Amino acid sequence: MNEKELQGRLKRITVLVIITVAVLLIAASMISASLKQVLSDTTEEQMKSETDEYKINILRKLDADLQTLQTLASFFKFSDTMSTGEFAEGVYEANKHNGFSRMGYFRKDGTGIRVTKSQDINLNVKVSELDESFQEIIEKAWEGESSVSRIYYDENLDRQTFAYAVPVYQNEAVIGVLGATNSIEVFEEILDDSTTLYGKGYVQLIGNEGNYLVRSERSVVQGTRDTIYQGGYLSKEEEQKIRSYMEEGSSAFSHFTYGGKDYRIYLEPVGVNGWYLFCTDTTRSANGSVYMIVLVTRIILYAVIALAAFLLIYGYCLFKQNTRRLIKIAYHDPCTDAYNRVRFIQETNAVLEEDRSYTGIEMNIRQFKFINEIFGRTQANRLLVHVKDVLEENLQEGEFFGRDSADRFLILMRGTDRETIYQRLIRIMDAVGDFAKLKHLNYKIRLYCGAAFADAVEEVAELSPADTLFTHTSFAINTAREGHQNTVWFYNTDIHKDEILQNYVETHMEQALQNKEFKLYLQPKKDLRTGRIGSAEALVRWQTGDGTMIFPNKFIPLFEQNGFCVRLDLYMLEQVFRQIREWIDEGREPIPISVNQSKLLFYEEDYMNNLDRMVEKYDIPPRLITLEILEGLALENVDELNRKLAKIRAKGFRVSMDDFGSGYSSFNTLGKLQIDELKLDKAFLQELTRGSKERQEIIMEQIVDMAKRLHISTVVEGVETPENEELIYALGCDYGQGYLYSRPVSAREFSDKYMEE
Ligand code: C2E
Ligand code: CA
Ligand code: CA
Repeated sequence: MNEKELQGRLKRITVLVIITVAVLLIAASMISASLKQVLSDTTEEQMKSETDEYKINILRKLDADLQTLQTLASFFKFSDTMSTGEFAEGVYEANKHNGFSRMGYFRKDGTGIRVTKSQDINLNVKVSELDESFQEIIEKAWEGESSVSRIYYDENLDRQTFAYAVPVYQNEAVIGVLGATNSIEVFEEILDDSTTLYGKGYVQLIGNEGNYLVRSERSVVQGTRDTIYQGGYLSKEEEQKIRSYMEEGSSAFSHFTYGGKDYRIYLEPVGVNGWYLFCTDTTRSANGSVYMIVLVTRIILYAVIALAAFLLIYGYCLFKQNTRRLIKIAYHDPCTDAYNRVRFIQETNAVLEEDRSYTGIEMNIRQFKFINEIFGRTQANRLLVHVKDVLEENLQEGEFFGRDSADRFLILMRGTDRETIYQRLIRIMDAVGDFAKLKHLNYKIRLYCGAAFADAVEEVAELSPADTLFTHTSFAINTAREGHQNTVWFYNTDIHKDEILQNYVETHMEQALQNKEFKLYLQPKKDLRTGRIGSAEALVRWQTGDGTMIFPNKFIPLFEQNGFCVRLDLYMLEQVFRQIREWIDEGREPIPISVNQSKLLFYEEDYMNNLDRMVEKYDIPPRLITLEILEGLALENVDELNRKLAKIRAKGFRVSMDDFGSGYSSFNTLGKLQIDELKLDKAFLQELTRGSKERQEIIMEQIVDMAKRLHISTVVEGVETPENEELIYALGCDYGQGYLYSRPVSAREFSDKYMEE
């Protein structure tokens, strides 16, 4: 995953987090709002239904009183037959048994009688002296209508009072009006209910002017006020609203603020004289349990949401921070904060995809190891940061650099003009050199660069253009290293051929082994006594996919370093077994073949098992296989080597020591080694042609002599001329190997040429 993908992922997660938090908030406010609504709905329902109940009770009371009065009226039909006094006595008696505070009977002429409960009887009352409200309903009664008056103040009784009036009939004609009054205390009894709204409310009776008729003792609004509008606790708008509703005679919800608290109110018309029931809910201000539960629920909800949002955002911040840190670690060099190699190569590939007119540069500091050791890590790190600063200053738009490892900087510069690039690099190297002056160090810092042009990079199958480009720069820098000053070396295909090949070898060996690109070649060895081909040496050739032949000196040393020779040698050994098997199967007389065994393979744990396995698999007598080992093996531990050799030879294999005389070989080791054959290095014969002939001859003679006495057969390599052959024959060598007889040829060619059927 590269940085862009990481950034993209981060962006997607950011959006997701924002959306989640938004959804949480919306959900919370919706739940909260609906809770609030439910609470308000239930309270409103409650207010409505309870107020209705009071209304019904009031109406029922009025109705009952009117009915009582009407029943009495039907008894008073016969009033003509009695005296006024007797009649009044009767009414007084009747009043004792009902709830009215006063009763009266009025005749057509506007006179009448009045009794006051448990007080007096007035035989001469004038209707015109009664309160206007009373007069109004008496008028109505003459019309045949029974009704209830508005509330008025009765001076005699010092009470807020209201009156009823019903017609008295005789022969279907109204002959009088029966009236009664009552104190509004009867409503107080009805309205004075401490259970209103579960004890969290109260109901009052008001007139349609907003004037109080019955006030509740539990009213939150204190002080003497005549109407609900006084005191200004109802806002102007609400007052307006209430007034207009009351004019229409419809019910209304409203609210007011008093003492800093908000109260909900409900107004319901009673249906009599414009009276209204005025219900107030005090839940909100009191600790109403439902309200509290809802409030607490809402607070918890908000807290949970806030916590969830906090955790989400906190986690997200951590994630973001970590991703940033990861990107930093993954793509930046911690010391200088420059791009690391991965990132640099990524960026370079992105650029080269669009445009190839760039130059890749690898830059190193001379003796950086020394600087590190002498001046210390801190100073060396400062130098690296200084290089970074110089590069930043000197690079142009669209150019960039990275630090690969230690003192290795990679740079991508625009353009492919050799001279311009050279001049710019020299300037950069000089500027880096100033570091010593800046730090007052008595040491000249010098650098070297390898450069390669991106437009000359060829497509290589498994390599990205940037990888190829920076392989080229590393070839070039290897040459630049050899100088002593600030040096720039440009990559050149011809000069770096070897390196290109080396690079190819390293990157393609695995694939080549799988594709069977390693071929068995054979070079004959001539038996000098019989003059016939007595045996052969197996030599590897790498035949690449495009037919190019790579010789072992180009890859064997590398394989010895990287360990791959273990696998290659085993492979070649198996090819040899197979070849001998083929000869036997084809009915040819098999000859022994010697196989080169690298040092690493020789000490492989499974080596013996592998030998056994192959002998068994191909059913070949081991004496047909000679294992060629290098003299270097003997240098380390002769005893241990001998033990190993003994085992191998016990199995029947022959052992030959290769390249004797080319290195550190000594007569001493030769004497100790348990081997069957000694190969004299081709250097002996090559030296002969260069003079000092006699000395070489003496040495060779001694070696052959000693081998003979140790019963070791001898092979001389590099026999190129008939003179060479003559000499080795004269020295008494057993075998000759060299171009005089044949170059190494493919196994097929060898079989055709030398192996009779
Ligand atoms: P070597 O074992 O000393 O093999 C002999 C080399 O001398 C061969 O080179 C051969 O071509 C060359 N040669 C033969 N006759 C003459 C001659 O008259 N004059 C001259 N100048 N050279 C002659 P080649 O095949 O290039 O092999 C080079 C080396 O690579 C071998 O040296 C051997 O050390 C190594 N090698 C080759 N094949 C294998 C292998 O399968 N495994 C291992 N471990 N090493 C191998
Ligand atoms: Ca050899
Ligand atoms: Ca050799």
